[in-house]
Formats: sequence, structure tokens, C-alpha cells
Amino acid sequence: MRLVLLGPPGAGKGTQAARLVEKFGLLHLSTGDMLRSAAEAGTPTGLAAKEIMARGDLVPDRVVVKIIEDRIAEKDAANGFVLDGFPRTVAQAQSLDAMLAAKGQKLDAVVELEADAEKLVDRIVKRAEEAKRAGLPVRKDDDPAVFATRLAAYRAQTAPVSAYYRGTGLLKAVNGMEPIDAVTRALGTALERHTHA
Ligand code: AMP
Repeated sequence: MRLVLLGPPGAGKGTQAARLVEKFGLLHLSTGDMLRSAAEAGTPTGLAAKEIMARGDLVPDRVVVKIIEDRIAEKDAANGFVLDGFPRTVAQAQSLDAMLAAKGQKLDAVVELEADAEKLVDRIVKRAEEAKRAGLPVRKDDDPAVFATRLAAYRAQTAPVSAYYRGTGLLKAVNGMEPIDAVTRALGTALERHTHA
């Protein structure tokens, strides 16, 4: 199964992707995680992305498209994957379609985790507090001021991606404001047709 999880920052894409990995053995591909690793490793791409990410803006399309193209060409992606945080622009969505079509593949489903923008900032603050308590690194962009920029980027550049997939008939919506287990169940129902195939 090749799946895209859409939704604003803090909607729970990462949490739900991890559960899909566990349940269906899919590969979890998070461009945010990949960019953070590249930044940590100090690669030129990572260092350039680091500043953009700290501001809450989007990294250029060509950078993330290349990262995804290289990653899905690897053997372990052959059985399917769940994309978390990609595509974030219509141009990225079109590039993804083209790179899959070149392999004779396509997406099976796109699920949008719908969320109330006003409540998301609380989730982000909570995520930062939990990371701090657990002694884990706190994401620089999990900060209310940066979050406003991330949400603005989502509204301007990523919200049109939902319309793009609605147009292709792939889009399904799940209420991301429910408790985590309820969202996982709803996601399972939305994907039923694909997981029993
Ligand atoms: P995330 O972990 O998905 O919240 O992503 C964190 C940050 O990484 C975003 O705010 C962007 O700066 C950058 N990023 C991640 N994925 C993408 C993408 N597909 N396109 C552009 N920027 C991205």
C-alpha cells in the first residue's frame, strides 16, 4: 500500500504513521525527520534546510522531491510506504505522481487528518513539554511563534494539495481531533478496502 497522510502540523500524522507501520509493515517516510537527520549530520542539504525549518517555512520543492525520489527507489520501499509531511505543495504532489508513474506505480489512498487550527498550537506546546520531560530534544519549530508561520505555510501551500487529491478521487478524511486510538480506528476503516486487498 502506498499512502499519503495529509493534515496541518500537530494533526497527528507522525503518531498515526507509526501505528500504520506497526500494523501493516509499511515504511514510514517523513520528510521532516529526514531533513532533521540531514541537519544533524551536517550535510549541505541539511544545513540549508535547518534555517528554513527553524523559521517554519517550507524547504524548496526540488530538495524534498529529490529526497523522496532517492528514498523510494530503495529496496525496502518496494512493499509500500506511508508518506508523512510530503507532499506539502501541489508541485510536490505532481512530482510524486510522475515519479510513481515512471515505475508503473500509483498511490492507493490519501487520508487527511482534519484538525481545528486553534487547538493545534496547544498540542504543539504539549509535545514540546513532553519531549522536555522525557529528556528528548525539543524541536525548535515546536514553539508558538514559529507555529504561526508553519500554519500559514500550511494554509497557503498545503491546503491546495487536498483539493488536488480530491480531484483525483483519492482523498479520504478522518477527524484528527478525536483521541489517538479513535483516530487509528477511523484510519483503519478508511483504508479497509486497501488493507484487505
Ligand atoms: P514536519 O516534521 O513534517 O512538521 O516538518 C518540519 C519542517 O520540515 C517543515 O516545517 C518544513 O520546514 C520542512 N519540511 C518537511 N517536509 C517538507 C516538505 N514536503 N516540503 C517542504 N518543507 C518540508
